[in-house]
Amino acid sequence: MIGLDVQCPQCRRVMHTTTPLYNPEKTAKGNMVELLPKWKKRGWRTFYGGGGGTTPAAAMQCPHCSGRLAPSGKLRIKPAPVPELTQAQKNQAIIDESFKLEPEPQAQDVQQKIRAQDTIFTCESCGRQIRGIVGFKSHEKACKVANNG
Ligand SMILES: [Zn+2]
Ligand SMILES: [Zn+2]
Repeated sequence: MIGLDVQCPQCRRVMHTTTPLYNPEKTAKGNMVELLPKWKKRGWRTFYGGGGGTTPAAAMQCPHCSGRLAPSGKLRIKPAPVPELTQAQKNQAIIDESFKLEPEPQAQDVQQKIRAQDTIFTCESCGRQIRGIVGFKSHEKACKVANNG
């Protein structure tokens, strides 16, 4: 696995990325990580002493705080951030939720229409909150025209 952020468990800085040799099942070794380009450019090596790539987990130190990168023998990978939904995606999620299909199609259909009528939508352009999908859709159109003109 390549390009994962390796986080120091002590100072929480990310100064290394994983190399193709990284295997989360195996005990960490020096050649599983590579310094990020900005530190590498300064002429820093991934590990000082300990034979570089073969540095054992116990000797893998954070260049910032000198803490151990893999105190348990395993590297700590920083979880990828969850992307924020745009307002358009949030609105779409509300619409999807309102129109979700469930067993009894007919009775369900009426309920969905009622729910969609009562749902509050937020306009992406002006932030106004509009009740009901019909009103929201027409506002959204008018609002976009107004903002472009
Ligand atoms: Zn550190
Ligand atoms: Zn608007």
